[in-house]
Amino acid sequence: MAPATACRTLAIVDQPIAVFSAAGLDEHLAPAGHPESVRRLDASLSGIPKAGLADAVRMVEPRLASLDEITRVHDPSLVERLRVFCETGGGHIDGDTFAAPGSFVTAQRAAGAVLDAVDALAAGDCDVAFAASRPPGHHAEYAQAMGFCLFNNVAVAARALTDRGERVAIIDWDVHHGNGTQDIFYDDPSVLYVSTHQSPLYPGTGRLTETGGPAAPFSNLNLPFSPGTRGDVFRQAIDEVIAPVVARFDPTWLIISAGFDAHRNDPLASLQLTSADYADFADRLRQFVPERRVVVALEGGYDADALSMSTGATLSALVGEHYRPEAASSGDIGRPVITAARQLWEI
Ligand SMILES: [Zn+2]
Repeated sequence: MAPATACRTLAIVDQPIAVFSAAGLDEHLAPAGHPESVRRLDASLSGIPKAGLADAVRMVEPRLASLDEITRVHDPSLVERLRVFCETGGGHIDGDTFAAPGSFVTAQRAAGAVLDAVDALAAGDCDVAFAASRPPGHHAEYAQAMGFCLFNNVAVAARALTDRGERVAIIDWDVHHGNGTQDIFYDDPSVLYVSTHQSPLYPGTGRLTETGGPAAPFSNLNLPFSPGTRGDVFRQAIDEVIAPVVARFDPTWLIISAGFDAHRNDPLASLQLTSADYADFADRLRQFVPERRVVVALEGGYDADALSMSTGATLSALVGEHYRPEAASSGDIGRPVITAARQLWEI
């Protein structure tokens, strides 16, 4: 890894990045050997000082999302079942997804982190807000917890924003398709959902032809990339597909579902991105909305070094800093998806 760059003068406020995380309060205790453990948070947060951003960051303990806020996007009976399941000792929800006695309150805090991130930006308390919490959320559907996810953290925050009349673009660069986020907003014209993901891969959803429900046509953009796809193709997809689709939607807020499991080191998938690629994506995406309207929410990512480097690179790019512990990646695998998407979306 290259040495960390010194942090140059940053933006307007002394600490332009607010990080909402509570690793010390994390009671979502993973079974032995499970990839989605609290160590992921430590790895992600370790990337901040390595990027030279220690002085630019204010750490904040997030609040708990209320049951009212959570049931704006989830079936109340799911929430109640999960509460009782945790209270009575927890266990496995499915082959991948677990809950411990403390998981319910930790999941409330994970959703609260994204809500707090929105509020901090709206109040002008920071330039960029990062919700570094777990469990992740983007697989959690309206009525189903799955794929390591209990509540859909990003969806809870997006709904809070649309309840205030905002138009929200969610861009999900996790390597897995965010079936939960798509499920919740598929027929909702106030939210644009964009997902780049590997296909085939869990959970098997996310086809290009899934473009939105009857009340929200072309509000759901899926870009399913072949295993081996690299950063060049993502950059082209952002410039030639995602940028015009987002411009057409004209969002007032952007939430990035930031999984870092599309990194080449990740043990669960086979895309070939590097931390410098994530920096490039963040630099492009931040230009889609006005200043102080970008929320970054951690989703997946299961390699400690990849989480660390990618977190540092992403946050650096969002505050206009250059931090690239790896080179960007290039290659042509996956490029036909861009052509197909342009035809389908008439771009
Ligand atoms: Zn993932």
